[in-house]
Amino acid sequence: MRTSPNIIITGTPGVGKTTHCEQLAQSSGLKHLDINKIVKERNCSDGYDEELKSVIVDEDKLLDAIEEDLEKGGQIIDWHACDLFPASLIDLVCVIRCDSTTLYDRLKARGYGDKKLEENMDAEIMEVLLQEARDAYEEEIVVELHSEEAEMIESNVERIAAWVGNWRRDNAANGEGEDGDGA
Ligand code: ADP
Repeated sequence: MRTSPNIIITGTPGVGKTTHCEQLAQSSGLKHLDINKIVKERNCSDGYDEELKSVIVDEDKLLDAIEEDLEKGGQIIDWHACDLFPASLIDLVCVIRCDSTTLYDRLKARGYGDKKLEENMDAEIMEVLLQEARDAYEEEIVVELHSEEAEMIESNVERIAAWVGNWRRDNAANGEGEDGDGA
């Protein structure tokens, strides 16, 4: 039984996932699972999309690579997709959102080409990740958080860290209750 929760921080590229994950890892002690890095380090790619200039991920290999981490608990998954992770191992899904003008500037600054930029802008406007999260997980564990200004990161991270504290307390109490009953 997990003593720390698994959290997905998802959203369109550029909305602020990694920034949130890094700060949340510091304040909560959970581990930042940067899926981009894991795909490279644990060999989970299945080729390269030249047009989009991005690695194609082999989802089965990726799930195998992180299965043990998820079963252990205490992971913050940082990835621009969310519905591949087993619902039974996920306790909270935060969908980070950003307004179009701000996102456009961030993606331009990253040097995204026109096609990639357009696809990501469309995805954010059409709320693709929010819908994916709502389709894949229970409604009450999906939270939408905005990240346009620096202070928003701080308040979002505080809010998630407080939730982590509650989750740990609730689950520690559950564990003790079961032991105590001796059933
Ligand atoms: P993602 O992981 O979703 O691709 P990042 O965390 O890398 O996004 O953030 C993209 C860029 O936007 C970074 O330069 C980051 O500093 C900036 N950024 C993210 N959120 C905010 C925010 N709330 N206020 C100001 N800048 C932000």
